[in-house]
Amino acid sequence: MPIRVLHTIAELRAELKGQPAVGFVPTMGNLHQGHLDLVKIVRPRASAVVASIFVNRLQFGPNEDFDRYPRTMEADVRALDSVGCDVVFAPDERELYPLAQGYKLHPPAELADILEGQFRPGFFVGVATVVLKLFNIVQPHAAAFGQKDYQQLMVIRHMVAQMALPIEIIPGPTTRADDGLALSSRNGYLGPDERAEAPQLYALLRRMAERVKAEGLGAVPLIEADAAASLAARGWKPDYLTIRRRADLKPAASPHEPLVALAAAKLGSTRLIDNLEI
Ligand code: AMP
Repeated sequence: MPIRVLHTIAELRAELKGQPAVGFVPTMGNLHQGHLDLVKIVRPRASAVVASIFVNRLQFGPNEDFDRYPRTMEADVRALDSVGCDVVFAPDERELYPLAQGYKLHPPAELADILEGQFRPGFFVGVATVVLKLFNIVQPHAAAFGQKDYQQLMVIRHMVAQMALPIEIIPGPTTRADDGLALSSRNGYLGPDERAEAPQLYALLRRMAERVKAEGLGAVPLIEADAAASLAARGWKPDYLTIRRRADLKPAASPHEPLVALAAAKLGSTRLIDNLEI
């Protein structure tokens, strides 16, 4: 069956009627291998796979890149078709937000106002609200989210658990370029020199991980400060480079807690994020 591209909720519901196991991959489009790998992860678990393409204004701040976010619908549909996606759901704003979205889902501040949430106020409200709405529209049995957006994955997992949504959340490992740079739609903003510099973010996360293993938790403040200083010296503007416990992304209290290193920094006008479990 050729891939179906649907723009309305009514068409999508009609198309999926009777499907016993819908797999879902929500995206903002401009797809790369990371998105396609998420489709491949849900494919074997689903009778039908839906990918959504919707650049969600609600999750962008006033000075962010909503207007210039890359929109590449035709290439996206071809790529999704090549990995066995059945349906592309690509609503426009009038379809998804016919009225200003007054009902919003606010994730708890202790998770949503730290790290990404500190530097992008309202971001996780926008994400949780659109994902909940898309879940209600698609009614998937399973949905895949990338570990590249580590905190986002955590917000979605907690939302599903606390709201008792009957959806299995499947994490997808971060897909990287050969030089280590995590694939991202925003990588396309990078000029050639910036693209050559960009893998430093992941290189630094690896160095932070090695140091915390060698030097212990007590060294974390120093490791974080050194990492920020070395990125800044290379011309980046770091938002955060930090080592947290995986459970709740708070600073670790004991050496037995599993850790994750998380980073966000601007290279020129492009903001990149990445993380590494330690
Ligand atoms: P986006 O289109 O950026 O909103 O991302 C849609 C989904 O793809 C989210 O679940 C992201 O975490 C995931 N994703 C983005 N980049 C990658 C990557 N490099 N590897 C794996 N998943 C990714």
